[in-house]
Amino acid sequence: MTGSSRLYMFDGGAIRLPLRNSVFGRGNDGETITTPVPWFLVTHDRGNVIIDGGNAPEVAIDAKAHWGALTEHSTALMTPDQAALPGLERIGVDPTSIRWIVQSHLHLDHTGAVAVIHHFPNAQVLVSRTQFEWAHDPTAFDAQGFCKADYVKPGIDWVLLEDTEDGWDLFGDGTIVCWHTPGHTPGHMSIEIGLSSGTTYLLTADAANSMAHYRGEVLPGFLISATDTVRSVKKLQRIAWRSQAVVVAGHDPEQWPTFKKAPEYYD
Ligand SMILES: [Zn+2]
Repeated sequence: MTGSSRLYMFDGGAIRLPLRNSVFGRGNDGETITTPVPWFLVTHDRGNVIIDGGNAPEVAIDAKAHWGALTEHSTALMTPDQAALPGLERIGVDPTSIRWIVQSHLHLDHTGAVAVIHHFPNAQVLVSRTQFEWAHDPTAFDAQGFCKADYVKPGIDWVLLEDTEDGWDLFGDGTIVCWHTPGHTPGHMSIEIGLSSGTTYLLTADAANSMAHYRGEVLPGFLISATDTVRSVKKLQRIAWRSQAVVVAGHDPEQWPTFKKAPEYYD
């Protein structure tokens, strides 16, 4: 941990989707849920880190053109200022200071920073090899969740974490630790953030899309492996117990508003 690390949470807009896609076994025809799209910045004296990055900026202009089939049943609610670059600009963070973009996974509501990678000339993009390979060739079931235009292109300096590199400590000081939490997609990771105050935040990302999911009260409506999904939640519970972490669920419409948003921060 360093003296200068901060965690900023950004509102990247929201997605209105069929309730049954969010919570397993719930939702009648036409019943929807509006879930937040969070993204995060961690400052560090060896370089700043974006975690995920919300939606690509094009989504605020024409989501159907950028996302395609997904928009037949789900609606992106996003204004241009909710994209990564304007968010950083508002808090005075220069894009050239971004050293890493850490991806929990590569679903289209998480690839907004990679989508504008040419604005981050000093950034490498960290993702698991398993997720990287899946995102380039997902099953038809999962294909709607990916927007290849965001990440299948030249000019991305990928760093691929092997499955054997679990608990990868990005700076070697506990500020950012990446945990494999598959189930939502193969190769999904959750991110544990240790701040200088001693407070720890556990960004579950989509390994627990809500606190109800984290507590084991419901299953998510969308997953690739139910077995891995359940095991990953148990793993997150162990990690959070050990570091007494504040758990931040991936897309929880009730919990997300309770956090401070940039320009406020946690340190
Ligand atoms: Zn996802």
